[in-house]
Amino acid sequence: MSDRNPPAEGEEKGLAQASRGELARRDRDAGPVKRSSWLPGPGQGFGVTFAQIFRKVTTEEYPEVPKVTKPRYHGRHVLNRHPDGLEKCVGCELCAWACPADAIYVEGGDNTEDARYSPGERYGRIYQINYLRCIFCGLCIEACPTRSLTMSNDFELADDNRRDLIYTKEQLMAPLLPGMEAPPHPMRLGDDEKDYYVRTPDPTSPAEPVAEERT
Ligand code: SF4
Ligand code: SF4
Repeated sequence: MSDRNPPAEGEEKGLAQASRGELARRDRDAGPVKRSSWLPGPGQGFGVTFAQIFRKVTTEEYPEVPKVTKPRYHGRHVLNRHPDGLEKCVGCELCAWACPADAIYVEGGDNTEDARYSPGERYGRIYQINYLRCIFCGLCIEACPTRSLTMSNDFELADDNRRDLIYTKEQLMAPLLPGMEAPPHPMRLGDDEKDYYVRTPDPTSPAEPVAEERT
């Protein structure tokens, strides 16, 4: 605890007034500001405007001309699929724990042999991203162990109500490409989850080299 007593309210006010007076006195003593140009003030002002006329126009024509982002721009998220259409998300919630803005909500579900959505034991049953909270930092995609979650270049996320800015799993899932089948369905690329990370989608093509196991 400090020995100094805090100044009383009246004393603080007096000090503030004194410093304001001191500043005003210094301004008076300094005299008028000297100009560095021989042009009168209005001439200098219009000179700035006149100089802009000859500069390259940088006006963006968006939305008439779509804006092209840098390839690594962090835009809307995508939940990816395996080549047979099964979901890469295993409902582990690591993305939600990594998110500093608490923008992700995940609830995992159990896969069964009758209803399989991902090659693992579990899948993301409910998945939501709240774009009112997201700051597009990308920590969630770094945390994802299956590369299920990635970010696209899509930045057109504005809306006129809060509800529509909470994106659901259906909105975030990657579209089905040719050769993919909408889950649930059995595993087509191998007998267990590991096969999905080491084999190519075409069984007639040579298998990719097996990645070394982490210890
Ligand atoms: S980009 Fe950042 S803020 Fe947005 S959901 Fe991912 S971790 Fe959260
Ligand atoms: S997106 Fe990735 S980190 Fe998030 S729950 Fe699914 S598998 Fe886990």
